[in-house]
Amino acid sequence: MTDSAGLESDFLSAARSVVGENRLGLHEPTFGGNESRYLVECLNSGYVSSVGGFVSRFEDELARFVGAPQAVAVVNGTSGLHLALVASGVKPGDEVLVPALSFVATASSVRLAGAVPHFVDVAEETWSVSPSQLSNYLASLLERRGEKFVNSQTGRPVTALVPMHTLGFPADVSGLATVADDYGLVLIEDAAESLGSYAEGVHTGLGGELGIFSFNGNKTITTGGGGAVVTRNPELARRLRHLSTTAKIPHRYEFDHDDVGFNYRMPNLNAALGVAQLEQLPELLIRQRALHEIYSDAFAGLDFGHKAGERPGTTSNYWLQAFVLRRESAGRRDAIIEACLADGIAVRPLWKPLNGLAPYRRFPTAATPIADSLYARVICLPSSPGLVG
Ligand SMILES: *Cc1c(COP(=O)(O)O)cnc(C)c1O
Repeated sequence: MTDSAGLESDFLSAARSVVGENRLGLHEPTFGGNESRYLVECLNSGYVSSVGGFVSRFEDELARFVGAPQAVAVVNGTSGLHLALVASGVKPGDEVLVPALSFVATASSVRLAGAVPHFVDVAEETWSVSPSQLSNYLASLLERRGEKFVNSQTGRPVTALVPMHTLGFPADVSGLATVADDYGLVLIEDAAESLGSYAEGVHTGLGGELGIFSFNGNKTITTGGGGAVVTRNPELARRLRHLSTTAKIPHRYEFDHDDVGFNYRMPNLNAALGVAQLEQLPELLIRQRALHEIYSDAFAGLDFGHKAGERPGTTSNYWLQAFVLRRESAGRRDAIIEACLADGIAVRPLWKPLNGLAPYRRFPTAATPIADSLYARVICLPSSPGLVG
């Protein structure tokens, strides 16, 4: 047994054995390929905004990688979620089911669309919304009104479900798609963290109507800031592209718009960076997986928790490495984090459950004991691919 005073130092030495002298941030990008070359090429072309060859090249290559017929590149993952919600027909006043355990964008995008987030719990095995749990919850919550299902307590239509693939670990997407079907919900996957992750051989983001990715500086690949929306539905892809570019009707010189649109298209400069990063994606995924193995070995001797790993039947991109404390050691989380930070090791907790945050406290929520427990027990570890040789 590790006594409680030794626990922080045992964790710290395990973490140190992995990071060595490296004091990289939580997930720093690596620029080891054609980044400078394509950026200069982009500047020389004169096209730096949302018109230009790199945008469509990035979209085509991303679509090919994930196996989607279409990808629409946008300015960031949050705008991708907002756009996906609006384009799929979510209306102001609708309720949208979102996990309590996620980055805040999963809920803020719902508010940006004028809709109401309705928080649900996640499962211990997936860290994502669970089909059986959700199905039980909805069976007692929803009542049918004509074509729609409404929340029997608020009377509001419940129209979409936005599961998130936490740290790159895939949710049970096919199970969730069945529940979404049963209740007429649009399934929008927040795959911001899971580029390179698969459930039952299907890339995350493609198990429902729509999926979104983020290419922020801390994600697996980066475009500086950026995101993308993927769908198998060509009509929806057309609508996404149209709404993302001010809903302008194509014309040689007239400015005519047939809807309230966004200015959410990814600029060519960012796409140039993205094309170079996509070329390195397979190698980055190998490094992220190698880092998981290294951490698993380093933490194997600790009896107060374990390194998080992928479920059978799924492939994780291992975007963020994480250690899970046993329930009885949850109280040591902050002491461990403080000890690591004091040594310059960039560890972090998971996000505070969203149903407890000030802007979201007044919205409907299920009981979320698992989200609360994971928040109390998970420590995210330095995960930069640069840590692997
Ligand atoms: C990173 C992230 C986003 C948003 O991405 P941005 O590109 O930063 O807007 C959305 N959801 C989750 C779960 C994320 O981790």
